[in-house]
Amino acid sequence: MTHTTVHAYAAPAPKAPLERTTVTRRALGEHDILIEIKYSGICHSDIHTVRGEWGHETFPIVPGHEIAGVVAEVGAGVTRHAPGDRVGVGCFVDSCRECDNCRAGLEQYCTGASGPVGTYAATGRDGEFTQGGYSTHIVVDENYVLRVPDGIPLDAAAPLLCAGITVYSPLAHWQAGPGKKVAVIGLGGLGHMAVKIAHAMGAEVTVLSQSLRKKDDGLRLGADHYHATSDPATFEALADGFDLILNTVSADLDLNAFLGLLRTDGVMVQLGAPENPLPVVSGSLFRRRRTLAGSMIGGIRETQEMLDFCAEHGIAADIELIDADRINEAYERVLTSDVRYRFVIDAQTI
Ligand code: NAP
Ligand code: ZN
Ligand code: ZN
Repeated sequence: MTHTTVHAYAAPAPKAPLERTTVTRRALGEHDILIEIKYSGICHSDIHTVRGEWGHETFPIVPGHEIAGVVAEVGAGVTRHAPGDRVGVGCFVDSCRECDNCRAGLEQYCTGASGPVGTYAATGRDGEFTQGGYSTHIVVDENYVLRVPDGIPLDAAAPLLCAGITVYSPLAHWQAGPGKKVAVIGLGGLGHMAVKIAHAMGAEVTVLSQSLRKKDDGLRLGADHYHATSDPATFEALADGFDLILNTVSADLDLNAFLGLLRTDGVMVQLGAPENPLPVVSGSLFRRRRTLAGSMIGGIRETQEMLDFCAEHGIAADIELIDADRINEAYERVLTSDVRYRFVIDAQTI
């Protein structure tokens, strides 16, 4: 069986601009699906990865784990999807399928020898290095491919595959809903989806952004309140106020100041993955029996549940669609928080 060569955008080295290139995709195995990629979201994790902020990586890397497209071809044993289906692929493309977490539908926490196999910059169980969604086609096992409901446009669906599920999972796990006060720190890709989804779940939603410059957007997206964290009065006014806080910030943050905004037994969930460790003072936690937790994307079953939830509530990402030759410019804009609210690459331009 031979590989197919397809076009892609790759980072050739840490911090180097991405450039047009080719990668190979494996021949279709029995349970594989060939997806014609239509759209690929730009997640801040792509940027952390290609800048080397999460440690050593093997280059070149084709980033992209917010993939939306159409099934082009299926392997002989595929039953879950058919040619023409609208599908998505998120942050992982395989896992051991045998550990307790995989069996429980928590493949993102797979404890097997290779863990969940990342959509890019990982070594698959076939020994091949994975390359992601900034590309025209990808081959993925049918069990790791999601169905995109008809009601969601494919371009606005792409960011749901990472940003959407990353906020949906903790909102569902910690039961955001009527009577719950939820705060979202950072109104970027993850943050704007958190506002929409928490609002759709019925929670009272507050945005905590660096400034008030995106306030109108925040309220339009479904927030009930909007505060600037650059104003010290915010921390006094909102002290002991929230049941649940999602921290989506990609940079260093004083977690202690934000922990002070949790009421007794409140939970703050760390979703942002900045390069540096963030110090936590014991008293920030024990004075109100507060919990600092973390959460990573979501399993396949829950990702499908999230897509169906978004379709039912008429929500998807607010995107800025770009041609592939603007990827590097988009990265620079994300780094200055100038994103409204997700860049999505039109794969036709790759
Ligand atoms: P993004 O679109 O860049 O949004 C991050 C937001 O954080 C910005 O829009 C900004 O919001 C705020 N921010 C940025 N720099 C800041 C600073 N110096 N101080 C305070 N606030 C700042 O990024 P994203 O794609 O949503 O990803 C956010 C983080 O989550 C990244 O670290 C990413 O790697 C991580 N992530 C984690 C998971 C997971 O499974 N846990 C999944 C996906 C992504 P304002 O302008 O409103 O202040
Ligand atoms: Zn991501
Ligand atoms: Zn596993």
